[in-house]
Amino acid sequence: MRRFFVDKIEKPRLRLTGEEHRHLAEVLRARVGDRVVLCPNDGRDYVYEAVAFDRSSVTLEYVEDMPNPTEPELRLTVYAALLKGDKTEYAVQKLTELGAAKIVPFVSEFTVKRSEKTDRLVRTAHEASKQCGRARLPEIGDVLTFEELIRTLSGYEAVIFAYEGAYAAGKRLDDVLTGNERSVALIVGPEGGFSEGEVNALKSAGYEPITLGKRILRAETAAVAAAAVIMYAEGEWR
Ligand code: SAM
Repeated sequence: MRRFFVDKIEKPRLRLTGEEHRHLAEVLRARVGDRVVLCPNDGRDYVYEAVAFDRSSVTLEYVEDMPNPTEPELRLTVYAALLKGDKTEYAVQKLTELGAAKIVPFVSEFTVKRSEKTDRLVRTAHEASKQCGRARLPEIGDVLTFEELIRTLSGYEAVIFAYEGAYAAGKRLDDVLTGNERSVALIVGPEGGFSEGEVNALKSAGYEPITLGKRILRAETAAVAAAAVIMYAEGEWR
């Protein structure tokens, strides 16, 4: 069943208008009797059945609702340095599919791209959530400075500071994750990596560098690969 995010649920009937109506009526060519899933971003799926169409709306009738089976227990927040081109968009799409709860772009000393229209990232997360069957849209944060990033890191049960220079002396993911965390933060740097000052600032704040292995991964690869491993380690792939 096709999935649509709505602001709120109305029973016993709800009218879908605007872009969602157009998509359902004209693109999907839905008919009376067809069923859809509506998501008000509360983690549940609400099944509705089309009962009437007119030029500007479709009337849907409530059928049932249930918990969405795909939403992860783990609340993973990914702090991702802004990347050139559409690579941040790519990372948002993949992190959404992997179940990230929040994605926060930041700028640091070596980021080439210094600003991002986050509404484009919100749209990417919206489409990816519909495609992969989620009932919660990942939150897209405002672009942070590196200093703001460090200030927001308290309160997580584990912080994975992925540092490209950590292979020799850094920790491994399984040195930090127990598999029972409920909230994890992942930090991934830009194409140019982290400066020495940034590494020292994160270390002084108590966040040890973590290696993602011997090879230097592209930033978007590192974000997606590390998020996947974290999800697996926390039992989200069982
Ligand atoms: N310019 C850096 C260099 O040549 O060493 C590479 C930066 S890498 C392209 C971008 C980001 O991905 C890094 O800042 C880090 O967060 C992450 N990353 C890539 N490979 C990694 C690795 N082997 N271990 C830990 N983090 C890694």
